[in-house]
Amino acid sequence: MTTRFEGLLIDGERIPGKEGAATEIVDPASGVPIASVARADRSDVDQAVAVAKDRFTTGAWRTMIPADRGAMLGRIADQITANRDALAVAESTNAGKPISAALGEVDAAARTFRFYAGAVDKFHGQTIPSRADGTLLTFREPLGVVGVIIPWNFPMLILAWKVAPALAMGNTVVAKPAGVTPLTALMLGDLALKAGVPPGVFNVVPGPGSSVGSALVTHPDVRKISFTGSTEVGAGVMKDAADDIKRVSLELGGKSASIVFADADMSEAVESSIWAVFDNAGQDCCARSRILVEQSAFDGFVAAFTERTRQVNIGATDEPTTDMGPLITPSQRASVEDHMQRAADEGAVKVCGGERLGGDLSGGNFLTPAVYVNVQPSMSIMREEVFGPVVAIMPFFDEADAVTIANDSDYGLSGSIWTRDIGRALRVARAFDTGMISINTSSSVHIEAPFGGVKRSGVGREQGMVALDHYSEYKSVFIGNN
Ligand code: NAD
Repeated sequence: MTTRFEGLLIDGERIPGKEGAATEIVDPASGVPIASVARADRSDVDQAVAVAKDRFTTGAWRTMIPADRGAMLGRIADQITANRDALAVAESTNAGKPISAALGEVDAAARTFRFYAGAVDKFHGQTIPSRADGTLLTFREPLGVVGVIIPWNFPMLILAWKVAPALAMGNTVVAKPAGVTPLTALMLGDLALKAGVPPGVFNVVPGPGSSVGSALVTHPDVRKISFTGSTEVGAGVMKDAADDIKRVSLELGGKSASIVFADADMSEAVESSIWAVFDNAGQDCCARSRILVEQSAFDGFVAAFTERTRQVNIGATDEPTTDMGPLITPSQRASVEDHMQRAADEGAVKVCGGERLGGDLSGGNFLTPAVYVNVQPSMSIMREEVFGPVVAIMPFFDEADAVTIANDSDYGLSGSIWTRDIGRALRVARAFDTGMISINTSSSVHIEAPFGGVKRSGVGREQGMVALDHYSEYKSVFIGNN
């Protein structure tokens, strides 16, 4: 079967990589190839960075008045919306997402560009009371070339979270999507050009992390790396960026907890907690993969949660009614199965799930959602990020016990609290060692608010006005009176 070829995007042109290598892109739901994408190497990264540096230093992007750059971001949002179906189909077939979820993510990407389109001319320096013999003020300057490195789980949305604020501040961008999911990044690059963004301001270089990613991180002309991915790779990125004192933002792994008190609205807590962990087949940094339930409600919660888990509609990603698709690759599914084997070896008990699908779906990387009980905080299933549809549920005795278990983690990204007692909800929210939290809902990602983690979940924040801080630098200027 012949598949379409997609080139790198450098300086507004789609080109083959210098070495002429390509990566075959496969639909995770079927194992069928859907595209062949040029694979960049270090010399392609050098070219992309040189172009981006030139456009930053000599081009009009940086000096354009903010409202005009904002209008350009608004036109990117319009392009995303106009191409909603094509983008969603590409994301669905490339990343194995149910089409309904892919459509939602495309809408969220458009919303991200709209947010920064409106934000950019409301972000400014200050005049600062200082001495009598002059005036002290600050400018917010762009950084220069920003290197953006993206994982495969939300390829387009995470790219938008980085590219929109980076461009808004007048930076230029070289983006490296994950090796297996480059399609929507390239499409977004094309749409930015259509929207009027000058060639070379936003470049896309798909390829492996070990060569292309590393070349971006160690390139002396890249002033900042904005990375989303695993904690292990993120730690290496931080070390590699240190030589040039490069700025880094790291959005890394998670092992988030939901705490369910006995007074909660149980049916709501069950329904919401299902999607808080099984959405995107559990391949979600914010997945609440530990559920802690107050002892008196534990058995009822497990029974209801298990029954609902069995009803999760897993299957073909182009069906509008599908809830859950496959895992991204056969090796990711094998990794999740290894985690489940270790859970069993350590004494955890599987209540349901963890099965591959056969028949028409046997070519895809499907795994039914799995529920584990009889777990202890020391077990690997309670400590390690599985990044698949696997949840561990354990009881707690009281509020202090719940907080202790929730915080007994190397990670601190997200979390949820379920209780009708608002005083307790706020006490626990303050005590929870995490970057984001939701109360009586699992919704904790909002473009208007800072997104990011503590501990081994990362440094820096995306989204909200604060992201503009991360793509700019203060410059202090003192003007004498004479
Ligand atoms: P990964 O760390 O394997 O890869 C992430 C990106 O880094 C990819 O583009 C990869 O090619 C690149 N990379 C790999 N080695 C590199 C190197 N040496 N130098 C530079 N770049 C390199 O992660 P993944 O498997 O693609 O994604 C899953 C992980 O991402 C999970 O741990 C998940 O929790 C995390 N994640 C975090 C967030 C968040 O916002 N906190 C969001 C989504 C995913």
